[in-house]
Amino acid sequence: MTKINVNDMLTSYDKKNLRIATVCSHSSLQIFNGARKEGLKTIGISVGEKKKFYDAFPLGKPDEFLIVDNYKDILKFTEELREKNAIVIPHGSFVEYLGADKFSTLDLPTFGNRDVLKWESDRNMERKWLEGAGLVMPKEIKDPKNIDKPVIVKYHGAKGGKGFFIAKTYDEFKKRIEKGKSYIIQEFVMGTRYYIHYFYSPIQDNAYKLSKGSLQLLSMDRRDETTIDEVQRLGSIAELEELGIHPTFVVTGNIPIVMRESLLPKVFKMGEAVVEKSLKLFGGMIGSFCLETVVTEDLEFRVFEISSRIVAGTNPYIAGSPYSEMIQPDLSTGRRIAQEIKFAAKKNLLNEILT
Ligand code: ATP
Repeated sequence: MTKINVNDMLTSYDKKNLRIATVCSHSSLQIFNGARKEGLKTIGISVGEKKKFYDAFPLGKPDEFLIVDNYKDILKFTEELREKNAIVIPHGSFVEYLGADKFSTLDLPTFGNRDVLKWESDRNMERKWLEGAGLVMPKEIKDPKNIDKPVIVKYHGAKGGKGFFIAKTYDEFKKRIEKGKSYIIQEFVMGTRYYIHYFYSPIQDNAYKLSKGSLQLLSMDRRDETTIDEVQRLGSIAELEELGIHPTFVVTGNIPIVMRESLLPKVFKMGEAVVEKSLKLFGGMIGSFCLETVVTEDLEFRVFEISSRIVAGTNPYIAGSPYSEMIQPDLSTGRRIAQEIKFAAKKNLLNEILT
């Protein structure tokens, strides 16, 4: 893999005219809106055609569009983007559809540490990182014959929960599993789900202090997943399964939520542990990240996934959240990213937050 040298790329950059660039989907309205609030210009990379709906949201619209035929074609425009002093903000669709490999060698300054990609995209490495940090993950069941309580079966590379299923016995597993696809089996954790949105700055010390820099809690959400979240409208899961109707986990939206305050110390401890471990393993994850958790009835957290970039669950909070409001009014994750870039540019620290 070619090693990107961000310092080389930044030498030609006019640091007073940086532009925020991202692909027009996922959380781009928020990213453009946040940049606008911080006085930064924006470039929307639109795949296929200019997305008409941006016209309906003048404050979330990029200052200019770059239209490409498909994700791969973004690679043809990197020089043009560098001439415009573009800094790329990754989000879930951008990385997923361009492909983690291509994304990690994109020769554009990118917000965050791209070395995180290999740690989060491989479920074994992710487990090594999170459990190594002391977080508790759902147990993995290596042999389906050992299924003796509800499990969730996850296919590799599934997008947004597509195709995942619940099984309670080995027989159920055998009936549902699709041949030829690789999968993992996890204990199905009973509890309530919280998707917690953090922001880690390695260069600012004005929040929850870590060995290097500091951590903020910006917001949290619960995902709205079809059809599992609405299945009770038709009957019990057992009744429906008899009819061959199986609940699925495809994300269709995000619901704002707050957590009982007594859980917040644990929330910060988990965020702290995962950042400190990342510093040791690969030089640290930077900026926004999300821990996807279930809180059990014993008020214990189980963490089933980490996303180390802005997640779509931050979108209910474009005008701030019940947590970010206590940091600064009107602070979204998108705005916080723009602030970090502005701060780093001013202090000559861009190489600390970009790769
Ligand atoms: P994404 O990459 O978009 O986060 P994904 O395809 O990697 O999604 P997960 O986030 O691992 O999938 O899981 C999808 C959904 O399945 C979760 O949002 C949650 O509702 C449910 N889920 C996942 N793991 C568990 C578990 N161990 N116990 C209970 N529910 C779970």
